[in-house]
Amino acid sequence: MSSSETTTAAARTTAGQGGAVRIEDVVHRYGRGRETVTAVGPVDLTVPAGEFVVLVGASGCGKSTLLRLIAGFEQPTHGSVRVSGAAPHPGSSAGVVFQTPRLFPWRTVRGNIDLALRYAGVDRVRWPEHRERLLARVGLEGTEKRRTWEISGGQQQRVAIARALAAERPLLLLDEPFAALDALTRERLQEDVRLVAAQTGRTTVFVTHSAEEAVFLGSRIVVLTKGPGTVALDLPIDLPRGDVDAEELRTSREFAELRARVAHAVKSAAAD
Ligand code: ADP
Ligand code: MG
Repeated sequence: MSSSETTTAAARTTAGQGGAVRIEDVVHRYGRGRETVTAVGPVDLTVPAGEFVVLVGASGCGKSTLLRLIAGFEQPTHGSVRVSGAAPHPGSSAGVVFQTPRLFPWRTVRGNIDLALRYAGVDRVRWPEHRERLLARVGLEGTEKRRTWEISGGQQQRVAIARALAAERPLLLLDEPFAALDALTRERLQEDVRLVAAQTGRTTVFVTHSAEEAVFLGSRIVVLTKGPGTVALDLPIDLPRGDVDAEELRTSREFAELRARVAHAVKSAAAD
C-alpha cells in the first residue's frame, strides 16, 4: 500500500486491525411483533485482516443482511458485530459496492470520484493524484469527463468500485456487484477485483450466489444455509493469489474441483 493510501483520518483510526471482522452469535430479524422475519443467524464468523471471504448462498438466505450488519447499516437483533475492533459505523467502517452502481448520473466520472474523496476527507489539493491512481486501478483511464449515464454498465460498476476504494477503508464490502453484467465484462471485473484486493491488502467480504465467482475470488468461502442463514461450510481456497494468469486458473483441474464442491454445498445447504 502506498503512503498516500493511509493518509485520511478514518483510515488511521481503523488501520490497527486492518478491517478485521468479528461476528459473534448474530441473529437479525426485520419488523416487529407478529410481523417479524428472521433474516439471518445465528452466525459466528471471524474474518482476519487481509482475507478475501466470499459469502455464498441461495437467494433470500440473508447474505445482504449480513453484509448490511457488517457495514453498520443495520444493528443486529442479537449478538455483536465488530469491525477493526469497534462497532461498525455506516459510511466510515467500510467501502461498500452494491449490485447496482448508485452513481450520480448528472455528474461525470470525475465528479463521482471527487465526491467520494471529499467525503473521505482527502485534502482537495491531493484529489488529482488520488483520482488518477483510482482510475488506473479500475481501468477507467480517459473516462474522467464522461457523464455516468453515457458509459457502459461495466464501466459504471468500475466507478462504484473506485468510489469504494477512494474511501480508503481497510474493509471492502461488495454485494453481488457483477450480477447484472454480461459474462465477459463480469470475468474482467472479477480479475480486476481479485488483483486490486491482492495489491491493496484490503480485507474483503464479497457476496455472490455463483460458485464459480466464489472460487475465483475468495481466499475463503463461507456457504450459508437457506434462510435464516447459518454457516454450512467454511472452506479455505488455496489457489494462487496476486498477478496470476486468470485463464489458466479458471481452466485448471483444482479450480474445477473446488467449483463443483462449492456448487454442491450451496445446493444441499439450500435444500436442507
Ligand atoms: P439475500 O441477500 O441472501 O438474498 P436478504 O438478506 O436480502 O437475502 O434477505 C433475507 C431475508 O430477509 C429474506 O426473507 C428477505 O425477504 C428478508 N428481508 C430482507 N430485507 C428486509 C427488510 N428490509 N424488511 C423485511 N424483510 C427483509
Ligand atoms: Mg442480496
